[in-house]
Amino acid sequence: MQATLTFLGSGTSMAVPTLGCGCAVCTDAHRPGSLNRRTRPSILLAYNNRHVLIDTGQDFHHQAVREGIQHLDAVLYTHGHADHVLGMDDLRPLTFGHHGELPLYADDATADVIERVFEYTFRKVDRYPTSARVKLHRIPSEAGTAIDLFGARFIRVPVTHGRDTIAGYRFGSAAYLTDMSDIPEVSIPLLQNLDILILDALRLTPHPSHSHLEKSVAIVEQLRPQRAFFTHMGHDLDHATTNATLPRHIQLAYDGLQLQFEIA
Ligand SMILES: [Zn+2]
Ligand SMILES: [Zn+2]
Ligand SMILES: [Zn+2]
Repeated sequence: MQATLTFLGSGTSMAVPTLGCGCAVCTDAHRPGSLNRRTRPSILLAYNNRHVLIDTGQDFHHQAVREGIQHLDAVLYTHGHADHVLGMDDLRPLTFGHHGELPLYADDATADVIERVFEYTFRKVDRYPTSARVKLHRIPSEAGTAIDLFGARFIRVPVTHGRDTIAGYRFGSAAYLTDMSDIPEVSIPLLQNLDILILDALRLTPHPSHSHLEKSVAIVEQLRPQRAFFTHMGHDLDHATTNATLPRHIQLAYDGLQLQFEIA
């Protein structure tokens, strides 16, 4: 089954342009149509007439307007940082027309954050009447945990993100590993025979909780996917000049980039 993957956002938590920064990449990012303009990280998967979203950052509303998102069928979360969960409330209008409650999938640590931040949505008594009609499903954090959605299987791929271990996901021939500093041994077998590998490449120099460009290139060479795309990028990486230094099968993603692949 064919699927279309859309990068809703390819930027780091501070986005590009980064507030208060006048560097060349941030300056270029103010230009309409600039491939350096990077909103908070998220991807949308369309297949089987369904739409599955991974993460809802602060830019979700803007991204949904830009891509013409009219309907969602499920949301998977990677972890509870602001750039991945804070747009949850913007799901509201998309849940009102939904058949039943929109399912959200998150591990315990992430679900705890979502329930705390959006307490008025999940309280049992005196719930805010027009809050999002969502149902939060808590999923085990073990490597290989599978969630079957509309004919595709989403497999949890644990990744190291600084002091935390968070969720990456594999779905068919593609994998999405945002926010990762290392890939634990247990996850390596889950990342074989990939068509598309999407992974974190924050900047040029090492960082405690994110992979940097050189390290991400080395991970791609180890896992040998057909194609690799970097995401969660800050303002170190100019789109055109960085791409020119990379092998042809490795490219920087950009907001709005669409990829076709086999999801099942
Ligand atoms: Zn992040
Ligand atoms: Zn900058
Ligand atoms: Zn994070």
